[in-house]
Amino acid sequence: MKTGEPHCPGDEDETFKDGITNGAHWYDVEGGMQDYNYVWANCFEITLELSCCKYPPASQLQQEWENNRESLITLIEKVHIGVKGFVKDSVTGSGLENATVSVAGINHNITTGRFGDFHRLLVPGTYNLTVVLTGYMPLTVYNIVVKEGPATQVDFSLRPTVTSLIPDTTEAVATASTVAIPNIPSETSSSYQPIQPKDFHHHHFPDMEIFLRRFANEYSNITRLYSLGKSVESRELYVMEISDNPGVHEPGEPEFKYIGNMHGNEVVGRELLLNLIEYLCKNFGTDTEVTDLVRSTRIHLMPSMNPDGYEKSQEGDSIGVTGRNNSNNFDLNRNFPDQFVQITDPTQPETIAVMSWMKAYPFVLSANLHGGSLVVNYPFDDDEQGLATYSKSPDDAVFQQIALSYSKENSQMYQGRPCKNMYPNEYFPHGITNGASWYNVPGGMQDWNYLQTNCFEVTIELGCVKYPLEKDLPKFWEQNRRSLIQFMKQVHQGVKGFVLDATDGRGILNATISVAEINHPVTTYKTGDYWRLLVPGTYKITASARGLGQSAEYRHIWSLEISNKPNISEPEEPKIRFVAGIHGNAPVGTELLLALAEFLCLNYKKNPAVTQLVDRTRIVIVPSLNPDGRERAQEKDCTSKTGQTNAHGKDLDTDFTSNASQPETKAIIENLIQKQDFSLSVALDGGSVLVTYPYDKPVQTVENKETLKHLASLYANNHPSMHMGQPSCPNKSDENIPGGVMRGAEWHSHLGSMKDYSVTYGHCPEITVYTSCCYFPGAAQLPSLWAENKRSLLSMLVEVHKGVHGLVKDKTGKPISKAVIVLNEGIKVHTKEGGYFHILLAPGVHNINAIADGYQQQHSQVFVHHDAASSVVIVFDADNRIFGLPRELVVTVSGATMSALILTACIIWCICSIKSNRHKDGFHRLRQHHDEYEDEIRMMSTGSKKSLLSHEFQDETDTEEETLYSSKH
Ligand SMILES: [Zn+2]
Repeated sequence: MKTGEPHCPGDEDETFKDGITNGAHWYDVEGGMQDYNYVWANCFEITLELSCCKYPPASQLQQEWENNRESLITLIEKVHIGVKGFVKDSVTGSGLENATVSVAGINHNITTGRFGDFHRLLVPGTYNLTVVLTGYMPLTVYNIVVKEGPATQVDFSLRPTVTSLIPDTTEAVATASTVAIPNIPSETSSSYQPIQPKDFHHHHFPDMEIFLRRFANEYSNITRLYSLGKSVESRELYVMEISDNPGVHEPGEPEFKYIGNMHGNEVVGRELLLNLIEYLCKNFGTDTEVTDLVRSTRIHLMPSMNPDGYEKSQEGDSIGVTGRNNSNNFDLNRNFPDQFVQITDPTQPETIAVMSWMKAYPFVLSANLHGGSLVVNYPFDDDEQGLATYSKSPDDAVFQQIALSYSKENSQMYQGRPCKNMYPNEYFPHGITNGASWYNVPGGMQDWNYLQTNCFEVTIELGCVKYPLEKDLPKFWEQNRRSLIQFMKQVHQGVKGFVLDATDGRGILNATISVAEINHPVTTYKTGDYWRLLVPGTYKITASARGLGQSAEYRHIWSLEISNKPNISEPEEPKIRFVAGIHGNAPVGTELLLALAEFLCLNYKKNPAVTQLVDRTRIVIVPSLNPDGRERAQEKDCTSKTGQTNAHGKDLDTDFTSNASQPETKAIIENLIQKQDFSLSVALDGGSVLVTYPYDKPVQTVENKETLKHLASLYANNHPSMHMGQPSCPNKSDENIPGGVMRGAEWHSHLGSMKDYSVTYGHCPEITVYTSCCYFPGAAQLPSLWAENKRSLLSMLVEVHKGVHGLVKDKTGKPISKAVIVLNEGIKVHTKEGGYFHILLAPGVHNINAIADGYQQQHSQVFVHHDAASSVVIVFDADNRIFGLPRELVVTVSGATMSALILTACIIWCICSIKSNRHKDGFHRLRQHHDEYEDEIRMMSTGSKKSLLSHEFQDETDTEEETLYSSKH
């Protein structure tokens, strides 16, 4: 090898001086491992060509070993040359990882390992080494002599910079086993200036990639380079994050973004953002402004949204369009969904990537950097008529303020006469303009940010020339550097804070923050944090949260209200709830409730019976009480207990006590049960086929047992097999449950159950329905399960209209709410707003007592029919006497069917937010089988001709495509 004349067949004349060669000098290898080692890691790698013959015969191997033995050993020994040592904290003495070790005159840094150790290979000579680490004073050791043989040991002891971010003049301590003169940067606080970027040239994609990777590598403690995906031509859509905790959303810390080069031939933004990366990285830890900004803000910089277009554009292009669009020739700034105009162009990969990015991060403020003019353009970018007129957003004042924060720092922009040669008449006072008042841009990114996310974005035109000459780049940095920083600082304006759950202090995701008189709510992020940009002033701010609450792992516990007047109180209507998924491993109930919701929604205004039910009943559906367990559950596993408990390992059906500990339980108790306005609750579970009624805890007597049993039997009797009482589940094939109904404690006794709590504290009867032996049946079973349970589920909706419903008022007709109605000396309900009450009772004669503050208790009897509600009107005579003497009580008992209620033609409204894909799939699978399982069903319990509900519950929807779950975007 050392002769340098390999004489390999085919290349007989090839020679290498001393048997070595620079790789590229020999021939170009792109993507080689050796360079990667050197550039991206601390390792020096060489590539050895050992023989002309790639795969020599075995007989030659011994000779090869002899040829290379000494060389291989010698190479290993070389790992010890140069300088080695440790970098330590001068206070604690602990090793410092990831410190950068640089050698003056050699543009290649290495970093320290886990224990602060480093090995810098060097040939003999004299060197100056500098060690830099964020949060510490940089330290240089001069005149380190490196000799042949083992490395010179030099340890660095770095002084932390705790208070002052400006380098002070106190001497740092260095220890070195060789000649070492401790030194520190010569600058003093008075003469201190931030370091300005030096890399001013046009970065084509490979150069940009190298630039980004270099900074991500060198400043790994404050950077994270990531990609949003790929452009049409498969270029990475890079984003550089700069933060003191890269990769982490710090609760309360706002997130900011700059996007450059959306139009490929508008390149100034791209270069400015690279400059900005350099500026932030190099000044972090030394410049107060930069350090404060990076510590208090999570900054995301996307130098190029359209890297393909950039490669097509030409330096010097002033007003051209070559390279403006992406590779599919679509203008990305006309590619976003618009509030006024239907955008018909296909949404481009770059657009999709950026949209999902914006949905994933809690961005507060953003700017989209363009070229071709010199102005800050703020929403809205278009208006309904497509005219060039001022199109005001609700946050016009905020947008003007943030736009000005940029233009003010760019003196040329602030003058407002951007491109005198090109557009002599154009004038933007103070260098800002409303987008639409300039010209209409439908499908722009800026408005989409504002309308679809919490982020406020403006569009900044950086100069009249779209692709200026390279020599002008330093001028652009100079003109915009203050603006770029000042604009970022605006992310800290206005109001910020947290929305927390009052019961346990946990942050609430997706709560709404509204500012009075500004029609633009923002929402909270995962830890309940929010930011609301506002101009100085006094505001009234309201926070509100949807859903019942969140699970231990912050999943929403959704409740779906189905009513002709959702969100409006209708106390005269009975209220029923369906709850499923208390055991996450049994999502069979969840799927049935979603099917029920779909059935009701799709048949509203199509099937008269469904329409009447929805019009007259308040239906609340909670499909998944334990979403964390549901996510852990094993699909198609009929017996697995995985996911039965919540994420804290608690069986939620044992947590319904006065000191409930789990967030899921508390959500149900506080938002449903304690409201005490439900007349009936049906809980769905899995693992058998039967219905249980209260109590689950062992008790001697059950109040109102006949009613509870009646409700349970009603469900079982409307089910094709449940009432036969033989679930025949595997392992329990000999079970015999009379009528398919059992008291909870007799079947599986336990404390802290939901239905016991509902009966005791919610004054609401609850039954638990076990709909299938299998906890988690496959999708193929869902249609038949729905068919089996549909009639039973609907019978509950009909049943809630029976029993006794009444009205309590005083003699003047004023309704009395919060009166106590006691039935059969046991069950108690309170009258609701409007004086209404509703109690389910088994058919027969029942005693009724009414108690209200300031009135004398009264009692009477009521006869409950099997097929219709009994109405009761209680009129109290006001008690004028101080201690309350008996007064006449008028109790009108009517055996008539429900008095006619005014039918209001209202549009059904569903919270269509329950649309996790898994659920959605379940639905679609279910709906494909409509024809097979649909048949005519007449409700047995509504046999009376007089009943307004005696209609067939036929599914009137005709198309498979019709679904409420299709999303807009
Ligand atoms: Zn543009």
